[in-house]
Amino acid sequence: MSFMNMDQSYVANTYKRFSVEIVSGKGSRVTDINGKEYVDMGSGIGVTAFGFGDEAWMAAVTEQLGKVQHTSNLYYTEPCAKLAKLLCERTGMKKVFFANSGAEANECAIKVARKYSAMKKGADCYTIVTLVNSFHGRTLTTLAATGQDHFHKDFQPLTPGFLHVPANDIAALEAAVAEHKVAGIMMEVIQGEGGVNALDQAYLMAADKLCHDNDIPFLIDEVQTGNGRTGKLYGYMNFKITPDIVSTAKGLGGGLPIGACMMNEKMEHVLGYGDHGSTYGGNPVCCAGAISVIERLDDNFLGRVKRRSGYVMAALYNAPGIESVSGMGLMIGIKTTAPAGDVVKACIDRGVLCLTAKDKVRLLPALNIPMEDLEYAIETIKAVAKELSV
Ligand SMILES: *Cc1c(COP(=O)(O)O)cnc(C)c1O
Repeated sequence: MSFMNMDQSYVANTYKRFSVEIVSGKGSRVTDINGKEYVDMGSGIGVTAFGFGDEAWMAAVTEQLGKVQHTSNLYYTEPCAKLAKLLCERTGMKKVFFANSGAEANECAIKVARKYSAMKKGADCYTIVTLVNSFHGRTLTTLAATGQDHFHKDFQPLTPGFLHVPANDIAALEAAVAEHKVAGIMMEVIQGEGGVNALDQAYLMAADKLCHDNDIPFLIDEVQTGNGRTGKLYGYMNFKITPDIVSTAKGLGGGLPIGACMMNEKMEHVLGYGDHGSTYGGNPVCCAGAISVIERLDDNFLGRVKRRSGYVMAALYNAPGIESVSGMGLMIGIKTTAPAGDVVKACIDRGVLCLTAKDKVRLLPALNIPMEDLEYAIETIKAVAKELSV
């Protein structure tokens, strides 16, 4: 029995996998069970920020593994404290809660916003406003936050108290605040799963002002846009906004499961003893991996992310079979004339792994992808997009 068949027999049927069994990876290349090599343009959906087998990350993780792999949150550990300090110093935030995934980081963000607003404005102030076409996770609460109806069917009732308004429509946001007791406004600065669409700068600034004028926590979901992905440490840093709560995950751990919810000076004392928790949260091995990632995301490195981005944007601009390119940094959406799914399948045949987001081909390569691998992948995508468009 092949592992592909075994997986299909025993793993829950929630994923439509490609017929590729990956056995190893190095840098931005992975090898499948037949020995075929691929350039990886997805990095495990924006997770393996420094690629596979990255020496510094492996050293940090294995060193911690050899010391202690888990303690629970009854005790202090060095990696957890150090990572929290590092994140606060790099963002200006004041406190961090560690979770294990993006959805859990968002759960924390929502709890903080609800408690803050309940304390300030009363228990009936609980509505969280999010955007149409957003994606915030798969738990019942983060599904309720997710502004895409097709995720909701079959799982009703979801957590109540969520409202979705169209993106880039400040009047709709103002109306929501006027008509409801709003406990928080949450958005992704670039909608990832929704099709790699950056929000307008003016809209984000107006939303930021609306929140601050009305003492409404402004929550930015940086699960996908965070940790260097857009060419800044966090995506919101590309815009002139000051969120109260920032959630992140994906690239943070470099491949180990970790999420973080960061809180500014207004939010840092909202949660008290017993208000929230997680058995694995702040796991020392995951935190050691994350320290290795965050420590290296300095201006120099982020400059290289932007240069790679510039190369991709220029190479794809006006290319035959490519209608438009969206995104920022190394979070890129490509609208191809041919269906995105067909482009991705043809790319797999030619040794390039890409993602999709809605009707686009989505690229989230490792932030340090070697230029030759990036060039090979982009040339392959261009060739496929052109061939399939005729
Ligand atoms: C992936 C993603 C999530 C969910 O993260 P998980 O780790 O899968 O729970 C939440 N928000 C955004 C913006 C994401 O891209």
